[in-house]
Amino acid sequence: MAGLAPPAWRNTRNLAHRRRSNNEAGPDHRQEKALNIVFLTGAGISSESGLGTFRDEGGLWSQYDLEDVATFEGFSCNPGLVHEFYNLRRANCRNAQPNAAHFALAELEARHDGQLLIVTQNVDDLHQRAGSKNVLQMHGELDKARCINCSSTWPAPDVMTSQGRCPKCWSRGCRPDVVWFGEQVRFLSEIEKEIRRADLFAMIGTSAQVSPASEFMQLARDHGADTVEMNLEPSAVAQTASEVILGPATEVVPEWVSRLL
Ligand SMILES: [Zn+2]
Repeated sequence: MAGLAPPAWRNTRNLAHRRRSNNEAGPDHRQEKALNIVFLTGAGISSESGLGTFRDEGGLWSQYDLEDVATFEGFSCNPGLVHEFYNLRRANCRNAQPNAAHFALAELEARHDGQLLIVTQNVDDLHQRAGSKNVLQMHGELDKARCINCSSTWPAPDVMTSQGRCPKCWSRGCRPDVVWFGEQVRFLSEIEKEIRRADLFAMIGTSAQVSPASEFMQLARDHGADTVEMNLEPSAVAQTASEVILGPATEVVPEWVSRLL
């Protein structure tokens, strides 16, 4: 919880019941309406917990070809290699700990009167382990296995192999329950519905280069939300944000959250 010093959580202006900016002159009942907040988080929020991505130089991803380990075609050609890669990623994830940015969002959810949803591109479970409850993992979950025959899912063992059997239909065809390149992201209609209802949309640690995530900021803005981006460097959609805060997630996120509480 480094970075979440108690004084920062007190003595700050309570923005949780703030009126939407386009209703500043409107009737006062809006002042009582709690903010509906949607976050989009990406690899940048977990990198300080030691979890790298395919965009990083060095590290686990650099030892594998993306086509081999992150496409269904690659899995079909060499499932053993894909399992080896995801077994390593799963082990890294289980050894990693949530950081101050994950904890700040969990604290905000616990203390916020309105709705709060975290949409994450990450397949790790660090948001949940930090205490966040309302999380949608649009790219799936590293900690789950899925049957390519009947689509049932179950908790992934430490070591998944191509010889593993589905506990429901008993076929040999278990794969990591993650979204590979060329596959549909999860929960898209629900995510877009929540973004259209959002009063505040905040993007953390994602370059937002790939559709549909690259369109979320504009969607939020089109429906009247305030928009914030927190990244090491400006993303591809930074010009659509009302506010851009640059810096490491473990520093900028707790500081920003403290302004809301
Ligand atoms: Zn099955």
